[in-house]
Amino acid sequence: MRIPSWEIGRALGIPIRIHASWFLVFLLVTWTLSTGYLPESLPGLTPERYWAMGGLAAVLLFLSVLLHELGHSYVALHYRIPIEKITLFIFGGVAHMRKEAPTPRAEFLIALAGPAVSFVLGGLCFVFVELAEAIQRQHGLQGWIMLGALLGFVNMQLGLFNMIPGFPLDGGRVLRAGLWAWGNDFYRATKQAAVVGLGFGLLLGLVGLVVMYGAVSGGLPASMASNGGWILVIGMFLFAAALASRRQAVIRQSLATVPIRDLMVTTVTTIPSQCALDEAVNQYFQSYGYGGFPVLEDGRLVGLITVLEIQNVSPSLWPWRRVEQVMRPRSESLVIESDIPVIHAMERMAREGWDRLVVMKNEEIIGLVTHSAIVHFLQLRGSSNR
Ligand SMILES: [Zn+2]
Repeated sequence: MRIPSWEIGRALGIPIRIHASWFLVFLLVTWTLSTGYLPESLPGLTPERYWAMGGLAAVLLFLSVLLHELGHSYVALHYRIPIEKITLFIFGGVAHMRKEAPTPRAEFLIALAGPAVSFVLGGLCFVFVELAEAIQRQHGLQGWIMLGALLGFVNMQLGLFNMIPGFPLDGGRVLRAGLWAWGNDFYRATKQAAVVGLGFGLLLGLVGLVVMYGAVSGGLPASMASNGGWILVIGMFLFAAALASRRQAVIRQSLATVPIRDLMVTTVTTIPSQCALDEAVNQYFQSYGYGGFPVLEDGRLVGLITVLEIQNVSPSLWPWRRVEQVMRPRSESLVIESDIPVIHAMERMAREGWDRLVVMKNEEIIGLVTHSAIVHFLQLRGSSNR
């Protein structure tokens, strides 16, 4: 089951989405503050007032995380990296970048921008607290001072936590930028930074366990048990994210080094452009079992027809439609050369929503590269790499 998320608006032209798990954080923060932290440190107010302050703090916390992600996004957009969306979820936020940074320097600056925003926000909150304390004799600013201090603390923590040098945290991206600049190998740098991420994930998990044990056995205050639990969960999350990043880097690395020639299908059956669709289905799609065929006219490639185009035509019309009327016409993106890395074919297929491309050399069809062939290749690679 996919957990739903909702778009709540746009910033810098980027859709902002809230994941359902974020509401859990929102409720938890509001509830903890309104029933515990606020009444303890600021006694004598009405419950409504505590709930209003708790809710406000949760909204400001949300804004802090959003501004952190917008910091990353702003610099990424400067490097012409499109941002698909920003999602806020239980562990914070993610700005989904459509491609990787072009240079180590860009990677470094994009990674640093988020924590920089958090540190500046934290600093501003502390300045606000200082100012408010100086003038509070005349006004009852105690509540605002508390919110300011809390938010300053949270933003500093957000900046510090993200600077842990384990990929995919921001600090890990900074590390990757350094390793990338040093060794001039993006994928190796990613794998190394992800291994450091695995290490920090384990370390946080252990710290969480020790804190929980201390709280339960009485060595630490009992109230720290939930802190320990939270650290443990974050450690596990970092470990899983680092593992996934490492796996993805391995996959992308193999796709970036293997040329299309090595996994293209070389026995290509073509279909004439004048063929009627019912004939195409019976004599080609059903007898060969392939998902698509290049279309020829006078021996020249004019397009590609796949199951998808046939599906769009009602079967009763098949005898009356010819392949050339429904095929995907030949274009720049339909044809690819055999010596370029598979990753480019995959990116193009993803972009166009296609499952195959025609491989040509000197106007001659020499093969087909299909999505399923790439998947099979990765499955074989994956099992031999483990
Ligand atoms: Zn960040």
